[in-house]
Amino acid sequence: MTEDICIRCGKCCYCYVGAKKFKCRFLIKVGKDKYHCRIYANRLGTEVHKGFVCNHRMNSKVRYGGCPYDKFFLDAPMADSVPEVVQSLN
Ligand code: SF4
Ligand code: SF4
Repeated sequence: MTEDICIRCGKCCYCYVGAKKFKCRFLIKVGKDKYHCRIYANRLGTEVHKGFVCNHRMNSKVRYGGCPYDKFFLDAPMADSVPEVVQSLN
């Protein structure tokens, strides 16, 4: 599985606590609709919000709307509906 299909939208870099959505503290905007991870090489397993760690995109098994990885999870729920996540930009 190649990681270069990521379009760096940043949508998977959030976590959900109840109805509240929190942006990962390492996510920065670098252009119009483009985001960058400040700790990309060391991201996996790093705590990004209380109780949430960064996980590989292929492990989240949710859809983000527009993410190229969504095609692998056609029957999965949209991210906004599940208390999960935080993922890689790639
Ligand atoms: S890849 Fe992980 S650590 Fe980096 S910004 Fe996204 S959620 Fe945060
Ligand atoms: S993996 Fe998908 S949702 Fe996450 S930043 Fe890349 S394109 Fe966006």
